[in-house]
Amino acid sequence: MLDTIRATLQAGGRIDRDQAGWLFLHASDAELQELSGQVRARFHPPDRATYLVMGIVNYTNICVARCDYCAFYRFPGAADGYLLSEEQVARRIEGIVSLGGTMVSFNGGFHPHLRIADYTALFQGLRARFPQKIAYYEMTVAEFMFICKRTGISYAEGARQFVDSGTRWISGGGAEVLADSFRLRHSPGKYKVEDFYDAQRAVLDAGLGSTATMVIGFDETLEERLEHLDRLRRFQDEVDGRLASFLCWTYKPWNTELGGKELDNAEYLRWLAVCRIFLDNFRHIRTSVLTRNEDALLGLRFGADDFDLPTEDEVTQKAGATISLEFERILDSARHLGFTPVHRAPLPVRSPPARAP
Ligand code: SF4
Repeated sequence: MLDTIRATLQAGGRIDRDQAGWLFLHASDAELQELSGQVRARFHPPDRATYLVMGIVNYTNICVARCDYCAFYRFPGAADGYLLSEEQVARRIEGIVSLGGTMVSFNGGFHPHLRIADYTALFQGLRARFPQKIAYYEMTVAEFMFICKRTGISYAEGARQFVDSGTRWISGGGAEVLADSFRLRHSPGKYKVEDFYDAQRAVLDAGLGSTATMVIGFDETLEERLEHLDRLRRFQDEVDGRLASFLCWTYKPWNTELGGKELDNAEYLRWLAVCRIFLDNFRHIRTSVLTRNEDALLGLRFGADDFDLPTEDEVTQKAGATISLEFERILDSARHLGFTPVHRAPLPVRSPPARAP
């Protein structure tokens, strides 16, 4: 099997789902590094890695989805539930910018009282306050779906309203493992997989940018992980490669209803390599400093080419993530591994193809 896979990749070809599963189970670490390095080299110089500084602003922890792997949410009415004002969000952005941040991601719960106009007003206000060039990932696809449903509008109409108000990005966050069996076990109230892709297609078709994400280390099976990758690769083909990047991070089990043990780094790296090899229609595969600190940089040897230096994210911090602001020390870890870390600008949004008249 290994020789067949190696020959396929050397010819610039694509492996299938069974081959991806075989690689994860049977290839050695050295073989995974070699093969993921081959696919990485289709897009990037072998010794170069890119990064930016970013912060995640959690504007509300009030949520009605009740995912059992989440340590962050509070049900409406909880004493420690919150919804930040525009002023409070602006102070958080100032903090991120003061640390060198050029990207701000927003991530909140499924707040039952907010409608689309609340979001567009908040983001318009924030963009006006910070005229310097900051890229905003204004919400995840998962939040976008909930907001459209609560507002009583289609995904296409929701995406159009966000475009009209100046939004540029709705990230592919909130995906975790995109397999309906996983969703049913852990977050039945969030969405169904094909519904997620319908929403993301509407986002892209409206001209917004988006990304792909995955979280591993819950109790997902290998088949569920492979289903996530397989469906995602087909979707990325369908949308002509417009998802700007793929980021895989790991579940943090502390303070969650689901609990469990944290995935070890060795398995994370092996899976990252499989992602790089399989997702040959993604230019950027990103490794997660947020959940693995500098251990994540070993991912650069397993096919990843890009990473964030995070400044804050209450969602993962509540579940056990520890964030270090010693950026030079983290970058030195990349240098010691033989990579030159290059600070990059936020990625551009790719426009949808022009429709035939
Ligand atoms: S993961 Fe997101 S949607 Fe699920 S409970 Fe937490 S905040 Fe709500």
